[in-house]
Amino acid sequence: MNSGLQTAFYLISAILFILALGGLSHPETARRGNAYGIVGMLLALVATIFMGDQVHGGGYAWLSGAMIVGAAIGFFLAIKVRMTEMPELVAMLHSFVGMAAVLVGYAGYFGPVDDPAHTLAGAAMIIHETEIYLGVLIGAVTFTGSVIAFGKLRGIITSKPLMLPARHWLNLGLGVACIVLGAQFVGGHHSTAAITALVLMTLIAFVFGVHMVMAIGGADMPVVVSMLNSYSGWAAAATGFMLNNDLLIVTGALVGSSGAILSYIMCRAMNRKFLAVIAGGFGTAGGTVAAASGEQQEYAPAIAGDEVAEMLSNAKEVVIVPGYGMAVAQAQHTVNDITRKLRAKGVTVRFGIHPVAGRMPGHMNVLLAEARVPYDIVLEMDEINEDLPHTDVVLVIGANDIVNPSALDDPHSPIAGMPVLEVWKAGAVVVMKRGKGVGYAGVDNPLFFKDNTRMLYGDAKASVEAILASL
Ligand code: NDP
Repeated sequence: MNSGLQTAFYLISAILFILALGGLSHPETARRGNAYGIVGMLLALVATIFMGDQVHGGGYAWLSGAMIVGAAIGFFLAIKVRMTEMPELVAMLHSFVGMAAVLVGYAGYFGPVDDPAHTLAGAAMIIHETEIYLGVLIGAVTFTGSVIAFGKLRGIITSKPLMLPARHWLNLGLGVACIVLGAQFVGGHHSTAAITALVLMTLIAFVFGVHMVMAIGGADMPVVVSMLNSYSGWAAAATGFMLNNDLLIVTGALVGSSGAILSYIMCRAMNRKFLAVIAGGFGTAGGTVAAASGEQQEYAPAIAGDEVAEMLSNAKEVVIVPGYGMAVAQAQHTVNDITRKLRAKGVTVRFGIHPVAGRMPGHMNVLLAEARVPYDIVLEMDEINEDLPHTDVVLVIGANDIVNPSALDDPHSPIAGMPVLEVWKAGAVVVMKRGKGVGYAGVDNPLFFKDNTRMLYGDAKASVEAILASL
């Protein structure tokens, strides 16, 4: 209808998406960033549906029906989902983007004969078919990879890496097969050979997605989550090329590149090389088997909430290290109340945040921001680690892998080399957890056997409430 106006809307949307990403990079501006994203997406939908020439007559009815059903499902899921289930939801949503790219690719290839794409010839046709092939390839890998990531995050699939013999050769073989099939597909003019190549490549990409994520060990999941985030962006960008939609290309590239940067940050946080993570296999080294060494060593003595309150009141410097358990228990509001009480008594309280704490990037920052913990006392691992030896008490609330000394001491540990919060260097450490459960990486934690450690057993919410009551 009005492609000039549509382009203007797309431009405004693209700017809003960039502002959204900028806003989301800090808790203080995150809400504003989210609002930019919502407005940008609304403008994008209006421009695509009402200002383009893709939707006609009956198409509006189909589109409205699909959007009402989709929006209703999305709305109920978003209302129902708990904070701890967020990463699973995100993994599931990534899989939708992947599947959408596969379906759009097939629809574009087999679409109606009056589709302008069917009249393409020469270089334009080669480019269009290459877009379809790459879009389906990236989409299929993203789809099955995200479904497996969902299963691993939910605990339906074991977080232990699947180590098939000759797995690198298998990956290489699948990659080479995709290249050979691509050569057969592009320029194949809808021949049986071209169609067969497309279908075979899709199946191979599905298998590759499964194998790639199955081979990645528990503690390396943060990299996988951010990597699939990046893939879903590239899948969306490929869909944009297939549909000739500039905004989708820009948005996909924004998501793809920000996901890639996040993967890099996660790799650095875990001291891993990106390619080594993708090749899989971390978490298989001998490592300390949780139950076995737990039996050999004695756990640090248990402590009660009122005793911890006394320790905290007598301390000058306190550092709180939250982990996944705090998210499960939803203890952040009470933790903030404790912080305020202690600060009022003149105790210096700060938070130490590990980049992979919880189950998604920024998980702890989101929870603490929600509980209104002042941002200036929330420090990153690198900032707080050097102060830990001068800290009187560290409260570890539902964290395990991120405070595991074996990451530094035991070269055979599955998490060897991962930087951790060195809480054992403080005067005293109080660990809050329900029992003797291991963390996500499934490895034993020598912190629980140290002399200066005390164990406060129970649900983290109940434990912090007991401390608050005594304070
Ligand atoms: P962990 O998963 O290592 O440990 C959490 C601990 O919390 C458990 O040992 C558990 O022990 C305890 N816990 C669970 N529920 C409660 C509760 N209600 N009350 C009190 N304690 C509880 O968490 P961390 O944050 O230390 O480490 C994150 C791990 O997750 C890392 O291995 C990281 O690689 C991985 N990961 C991170 C992602 C990210 O993007 N941040 C994504 C995917 C994985 P018990 O059962 O005894 O209570």
